Amino acid sequence: MKLLIPDLCMVVLIGPSGAGKSTFARMHFKPTEILSSDALRGLLSDDETDQSASADAFEILYLLLQKRLRRGRLCVIDATNVQADSRKTLIQYARQFNVAAIAVVFDINEQVCLDRNRLRPDRRFGPHVVRRHVQQLRHSLGRLRDEGFRHVHTFTTPDASANTIVERTPLLVNRRYDSGPFDIIGDVHGCALELRALLEKLGYHFTDIIDVDGQPGHQITPPLGRKATFLGDLVDRGPDSAGVLRIVMHLVEAGNGWCVPGNHDAKLLKKLQGRDVNIGHGLALTLEQLDREPLAFRERVRRFIDG
Ligand code: GDP
Ligand code: MG
Repeated sequence: MKLLIPDLCMVVLIGPSGAGKSTFARMHFKPTEILSSDALRGLLSDDETDQSASADAFEILYLLLQKRLRRGRLCVIDATNVQADSRKTLIQYARQFNVAAIAVVFDINEQVCLDRNRLRPDRRFGPHVVRRHVQQLRHSLGRLRDEGFRHVHTFTTPDASANTIVERTPLLVNRRYDSGPFDIIGDVHGCALELRALLEKLGYHFTDIIDVDGQPGHQITPPLGRKATFLGDLVDRGPDSAGVLRIVMHLVEAGNGWCVPGNHDAKLLKKLQGRDVNIGHGLALTLEQLDREPLAFRERVRRFIDG
């Protein structure tokens, strides 16, 4: 099984003791990426199972988590994490640093966990501990998405670690490979003529053509290596939001531009998705303008803003 995760995220391992969490972490992540409550208990008290060190261990774990997320470093939380409260704290930190929380669940047969723990000299607790973990896990399954986990991956077979490949994918917003130079333009607000004039002044060459939907459009060639970068609010208020969208969509789709939607664009997207939005702040005018365009254009706009 291939497990796709963003290259910056918080991976929360969830499962009873003996389920294979630490093995999975060691196999698929760098030692420095793993924040393990056992290891921290060990550092504090020379005994990974010393429960009296748990509060201190988690205090340090949360501190490390914050410091690493602030630096944009991936973190794997290696603790049982079978209690909703402990996950809630983790999710709060992930949110604070705008990082996706990914759950990796080890829903492994209780007997397998008990058998494995019996073979470990450093796990002296009785079977009731694993049993409690399994029960708590059962309560947790099915609600992890609602708790705020972006993805939930569940292993149900005992040797899942060995049969899994973890692949890291760049975040959608990670464009470090693109070094520009960029022409940065914000708040066009439906002023298509002014946008064209500005781009032409910057050296972008416009050729008038018939667009893919049969309407008048443009072929735009940027000055060598340059990229137009739009920082939101393409639409509303101005006389020709459709015209602005036609220019920006062409640049972005041809690989000659970037666009981050603004709140006005996001509201238009909601409306195009059929959701209920308040038609104030110029949106009514934009909708009127879009109504004059072919259906294919509105569909292209919806896909474009949706990213
Ligand atoms: P944790 O308590 O969830 O962190 O579990 P560990 O990763 O420490 O694993 C508990 C025991 O199960 C260890 O002795 C591991 O060697 C063993 N184990 C973990 N994963 C696998 C696996 O995929 N296959 C097999 N055969 N044993 C495993
Ligand atoms: Mg472990």
